[in-house]
Amino acid sequence: AVHATVPHVVLLVSPGAGHVVPAAQLAACLSTHHGCTATIVTYTNLSTARNSSALASLPRGVTAMALPEVSLDDLPADERIETRVFTVVRRTLPHLRELLLSFLGSSPAGVTAFLADLLCPAALAVAAELGIPRYVFFTSNLLCLTTLLYTPELATTTACECRDLPEPVVLPGCVPLHGADLIDPVQNRANPVYQLMVELGLDYLLADGFLINTFDAMEHDTLVAFKELSDKGVYPPAYAVGPLVRSPTSEAANDVCIRWLDEQPDGSVLYVCLGSGGTLSVAQTAELAAGLEASGQRFLWVVRFPSDKDVSASYFGTNDRGDNDDPMSYLPEGFVERTKGAGLAVPLWAPQVEVLNHRAVGGFLSHCGWNSTLEAASAGVPMLAWPLFAEQRMNAVMLSSQRVGLAVRVRPSSARPDYGVVPREEVASAVRKLMVGEMGAAARKKAGELRAAAEMASAPGGPQHQALAGMVGKWKVRG
Ligand code: UDP
Repeated sequence: AVHATVPHVVLLVSPGAGHVVPAAQLAACLSTHHGCTATIVTYTNLSTARNSSALASLPRGVTAMALPEVSLDDLPADERIETRVFTVVRRTLPHLRELLLSFLGSSPAGVTAFLADLLCPAALAVAAELGIPRYVFFTSNLLCLTTLLYTPELATTTACECRDLPEPVVLPGCVPLHGADLIDPVQNRANPVYQLMVELGLDYLLADGFLINTFDAMEHDTLVAFKELSDKGVYPPAYAVGPLVRSPTSEAANDVCIRWLDEQPDGSVLYVCLGSGGTLSVAQTAELAAGLEASGQRFLWVVRFPSDKDVSASYFGTNDRGDNDDPMSYLPEGFVERTKGAGLAVPLWAPQVEVLNHRAVGGFLSHCGWNSTLEAASAGVPMLAWPLFAEQRMNAVMLSSQRVGLAVRVRPSSARPDYGVVPREEVASAVRKLMVGEMGAAARKKAGELRAAAEMASAPGGPQHQALAGMVGKWKVRG
């Protein structure tokens, strides 16, 4: 092994802002506070401008590079996005191997540790072969990891579709989940992605440990139960290294959203945003608009192009927008004029961290993506849960459970596989529940507590720092 005085960490990151943003945050933290250098390795396939912008301003000591594009021409055009990502991960393994070898051969960089994010643990095999300490950087929560580690067992011990399981799925230290709340790609046994999810669950076991973007106050029981399992050697250990979230900057001060929020009373505005990928149907976009209007509450809404086919279409811009280049054209006739003053609809993107930390924001209608959740908790803003895809349903269950209590749900349960269109009356009533109701008040109190806990978790010398310092220390000893 190369004796590097400065540890060099290589972080492999799958496409999507939800993965690239926290990876950049972790790399910055390792470089700024733990004396490491870091290389962020992304995929050319499936990358978007939005992904790349998170990598535009990296601190000293952090570099980004991309693995070359590989052909996916043989995959059916309507192949699931997860299958596409897993295929890219496998097909680029030879390139990754070459890259790691070139680092290993170049003193003083070497590779002190290799981190693969939650969608690319197949790459851990390459690090194992080269004798490099290897970890999974899990950008969602420990509940989600626990369910993914359970997939191989789910596949062999049950025969029905998981939404038809008669009993809830109860995993150690986790909120009980309805089978329909498990991650999307295990919802259909006949789709090839199901077997890939089984392999994903097995690939995680190649890791020396898991770095989870979570913190104790958010997942205490799950962390305790997982530690018991890893102490017994069932799973590699998990380290809570969260919340890794971007801090608000003053650069957004001139943004149209922030300037509008500056004019609004404290805690009065509902921020509505479904992540970088969340997508509503044409009908749901119109009902949401009507519901926001009927709620009588102030709102700031990030409007996306709708899609009637895919709830995650915005992720890679596959919305069926035809020649239409304005998402606002899908809003009901006269909506913008009628809600002027009380509401602001902005197309496509908002500076979310700055918005959530603005004093005028009092609630967040969210798809429950994990980064959005951590950003809401860190800003002390309660959520209205509108899960759409991936692991968002289980996040919503956990967030609205008594143990976390950060969220109120639009619909009480996703047990009905067909979520259907949520009508305007239901939207309006849910919005009022969060902004002016008793349930919202309770969630707001919990949000305040979580904000304090998040601050403590990431304070200098706090649990996040200690977990990372412990790990870097181990890498150094080994080097
Ligand atoms: N985001 C943003 N502005 C937007 C939409 C999203 O800044 O208009 C950021 C958000 O702050 C978060 C990330 O994009 O950091 C979305 O990640 P998340 O895990 O919540 O959801 P995903 O996009 O992966 O579904």
